[in-house]
Amino acid sequence: MDKQTHSFQAEVKQILHLVTHSLYSNKEIFLRELVSNASDACDKLRFEALDHPQYLEDQPQLEVRVSFDPEARTVTISDTGIGLSAEEAIAHLGTIAKSGTREFMAKLEGDQKKDANLIGQFGVGFYSGFIVADRITVESRRAGLPADQGVRWSSEGTGDFEVETITKPGRGTDVILHLREGEEEFLKTWRLKSTISKYSDHISLPILMRKEEWDAEKAEQIVKDEWEPVNKASALWTRSKSDITQAEYDSFYQQISYDTEAPLAFTHNRVEGRSEYTQLLYIPAKAPFDLWNRDKRGGVKLYVKRVFIMDDAEALMPVYLRFVKGVIDSADLPLNVSRELLQESRDVKAIREGSTKRVLSMLESLANSEEVSEKDKYARFWADFGQVLKEGVGEDHQNQERLVKLLRFASTQADEGVSFADYVSRMKDGQEAIYYITADSLSAAKNSPQLEIFRKKGIEVLLLTERVDEWMLSHLYEFEGKSLQSVAKGSVDLGSLQDEEEKKKAEEAAEQFKPMLERLKAALEGRAKDVRVTTRLVDSPACVVTEEGDISGHLARMLKQAGQAAPESKPTLEVNPDHALVKKLGAIDADDTRFGDLAQVLFDQALLAEGGVLEDPAAYVRRVNALLLG
Ligand code: ADP
Repeated sequence: MDKQTHSFQAEVKQILHLVTHSLYSNKEIFLRELVSNASDACDKLRFEALDHPQYLEDQPQLEVRVSFDPEARTVTISDTGIGLSAEEAIAHLGTIAKSGTREFMAKLEGDQKKDANLIGQFGVGFYSGFIVADRITVESRRAGLPADQGVRWSSEGTGDFEVETITKPGRGTDVILHLREGEEEFLKTWRLKSTISKYSDHISLPILMRKEEWDAEKAEQIVKDEWEPVNKASALWTRSKSDITQAEYDSFYQQISYDTEAPLAFTHNRVEGRSEYTQLLYIPAKAPFDLWNRDKRGGVKLYVKRVFIMDDAEALMPVYLRFVKGVIDSADLPLNVSRELLQESRDVKAIREGSTKRVLSMLESLANSEEVSEKDKYARFWADFGQVLKEGVGEDHQNQERLVKLLRFASTQADEGVSFADYVSRMKDGQEAIYYITADSLSAAKNSPQLEIFRKKGIEVLLLTERVDEWMLSHLYEFEGKSLQSVAKGSVDLGSLQDEEEKKKAEEAAEQFKPMLERLKAALEGRAKDVRVTTRLVDSPACVVTEEGDISGHLARMLKQAGQAAPESKPTLEVNPDHALVKKLGAIDADDTRFGDLAQVLFDQALLAEGGVLEDPAAYVRRVNALLLG
């Protein structure tokens, strides 16, 4: 093939623009990315060679070499991996197949603009070469193709790239970076070497560089022809716990997670038994930007007997633990295991169950620790990951009981950190249920009229304001025998918390207001399912509640926002017989038109107070104005 010019895909152009114009700190990460690509290419070859041993040719050694040429101002990363055919070079180095690119760019355009470290999180690592290079030449030959079917790919990282056929005797890929003016620091052995040990020590292939020796006569460092490994190539997780320092654990976490912070906690175990494996699992200190993407694969890498198999092996962790990072190294799985096979494997199931339990234990020991610093860690964990953990309550029935104990809420007593156990310990004598309210925000929850009677009686109510809460509650009915009861559903039943006198008063009020309730019901025909007198209100004239079994107004709104059909259900209006407005309503003549207006206003206000939206806000405004003037 003669030289051809191709244009980069639009997304690539945008990425390249950002890479060359925005990334200033941590420039050295280009080396981590390119070494990681080289190592991936070797892993791929190892796989393919299982079925096609001839791919190894006469070079069975899988390795990465990093070298530089001060005269030519180039740094070269070479591997003996799978290589690229011409078509692959055009496809893989000219387009981005992955989703998430847009998020990546949004992030780069945001305040974190200058940290090149971000690039690793998005799988567009190859282009990071352009942070330091104004031209990249890739020379490659795919394993299995003859020497004369090599390819040279070359680009200045602007609009387009060139490809042509070359002869390349050795299999694999050379990535040659032509350094920009000002990037000479990368033309030094120590600089490259220290960067490799900083980021790539755990790579299990040898990463080789030319030996350098001090020449006393010339009084300078001389680069020799000999190559030596510069990475430790020791898989941290295979070492004994007692030999690993906290700093090593932290730095390994940072290598695999691209996180700049140390992890919150980790667990490292060798599991023996029916299934044999090693797990090294970390909980990050902060939520990643894409935590909410449930389709995102997990953060656990799978190895089999120290050989890297795949990233993000989602079968190894339940979805609700997708924030966990780490490594699982199995002694039982076959080397050529595929994602599909993983889903079905009994060994994998055992690993997933075992690892889930380990993660939960890790969280429990933080949550239940006597030490303030550990408890603080749990609070921080909860703030960032609590919502995700709640998904587990519905998804993981096997561990539901343990998960429920890890939940933390806001309540009318404390803005955060209330566990079910805390709540139960504060329950009033005679209180049988755990009360909660769901709302769109903490202030909406706190100010909800439905809480009035609970406030008055000093009964704690959990305030649930996260989207996932309603869903979680559809899977959770009780805690240690105490049922969970919404304060906005059904008529309030405070059970033995209400004294006889109060009950009697309520019954009398119901009797006395009967005619007015009938009239209200008629006026609100089609809007309210029922109208009744309540004891739950103290300061407000009215509130809306949903009947037991109907979906709450809050859930209905969430479904609607998500574009899903919510089952039709009308709320019930409850009125406070002690409120002046209700008394006034009772005194209005049946044929007075003001009765109808007042009834509608009362209902609309109750809807608004519950966080609802009025179907006809203009009519509401008109009526209120009429009443104000009247
Ligand atoms: P990622 O590695 O996350 O897929 P990159 O932008 O780093 O994204 O690389 C894009 C693609 O280019 C890779 O998926 C791979 O197919 C190919 N590639 C990059 N470097 C090499 C290499 N050294 N050998 C073979 N293929 C490579």
